[in-house]
Parts: sequence; C-alpha cells; structure tokens
Amino acid sequence: MKKKKKTISKKPVQKVQLKKPSNAEAEKAVRTLISFVGEDPDREGLLDTPKRVVKAYQDWYGGYNQDPKEVLNKTFSEIHGYDEIIMLKDIRVESHCEHHMAPFIGSAHVAYLPNKRVVGISKLARITRIFSKRMQVQEKLTAEIANCLQEVLKPRGVAVVIEAQHECMTTRGINEPGISMVTSQLLGKFRTDASTRKEFYSMIKQGSILKKV
Ligand SMILES: [Zn+2]
Repeated sequence: MKKKKKTISKKPVQKVQLKKPSNAEAEKAVRTLISFVGEDPDREGLLDTPKRVVKAYQDWYGGYNQDPKEVLNKTFSEIHGYDEIIMLKDIRVESHCEHHMAPFIGSAHVAYLPNKRVVGISKLARITRIFSKRMQVQEKLTAEIANCLQEVLKPRGVAVVIEAQHECMTTRGINEPGISMVTSQLLGKFRTDASTRKEFYSMIKQGSILKKV
C-alpha cells in the first residue's frame, strides 16, 4: 500500500484580528455591570459613569496603541567607553492583572550592561509604562520589559525587578493588605555572572547617594 504523502501547508499562520467594540458598545457593557452589582444605571449620579469608565479604560490600557520597540530606537554611542551597569530605580508601575482586571501597583528597577550603545535614561521608564498599561500578570510584565531591552539594544545583560501589591489579593479574595509580590528577570551577564548580579541587587538596596534637600 502506498503511503500517503504528508502535505505541509505553506500558508502563513494568520493572527486572529478581534473586532474592537465601539465606545457605545463598551458603555453598554459598563451599564450591565452597574445593574449587576444592584445599582440603577439611570440614577442621576451614574448617568455619565459608563462614559467615564470607558475613558478611564482607554487610559489604563493605553499601552496597546504604543510600540515600546520604537521608543528604544534612538541610541547613543558617544559614551567614552562606559561599560558598567546603567540602572533606573523606583519606576512607578501601575498595571492591571489579567485574571481580575484589578490594579497592581508598585515599583520597577530596570538595568542593563551597555554594549557600546545606550538609550536616553527616560526611555527605560517609558517602556515600563507602555507594557504596564496592558493587561497581564506581573511575571509577564517583568519578562516583557527585559526581553524588549535585550532584543532592541542587544546589551551584555538586562535585569528587571518588580515589586507590586495586587488589589485582587489585598482588597478581595484572601483580603490580605500589606503583602507584595516580587518578580525578577535576569538575562545575559546578570544571569551568568554572580558578581554582576550581586552588584545589581546591592544597587537596589543602596539608598540614594544624593543629599536630601
Ligand atoms: Zn488578579
């Protein structure tokens, strides 16, 4: 019996394009939620709430309309041989978990070991903000920031640490205020070289060397 030849489809895998609902459709969904919790969406104080919520969502999830790689496109090479850790500390993180769409709020420390090229330091804060304004879990956010830096800048290493409090845990569920989650993603030398890693963590622990005014 002849064996049937396996045919491999050469069609490119197409990404499913989801249809984006209109503002009116989104506002209708908010009205449903208002009714769901037992409120009257036609009460005076709630009349404009769906509009406001949709507007707030466009802000909280504004990271889908921005490309973090584009932010990192402009690099500088005039760094006079500087090849030590570059780190931005205490970047405010405001994001939403994809499990409950509840906020998680905290800080990120983002560092890299340059490979002849650097980016403007504010760019580290900007890419953190773009990824934060998307729906995800903290582990993914941490990895996304690190991978993006690695991919575009191609440095000798990247390290990202995020510490955040999750409202889905502090205001509901186990209702435990004051606890935070810490995640870290180390790439390149930060992963393979113990002394680089140690230096990174001691830079985090170190207080500011600037004199307080
Ligand atoms: Zn959650």
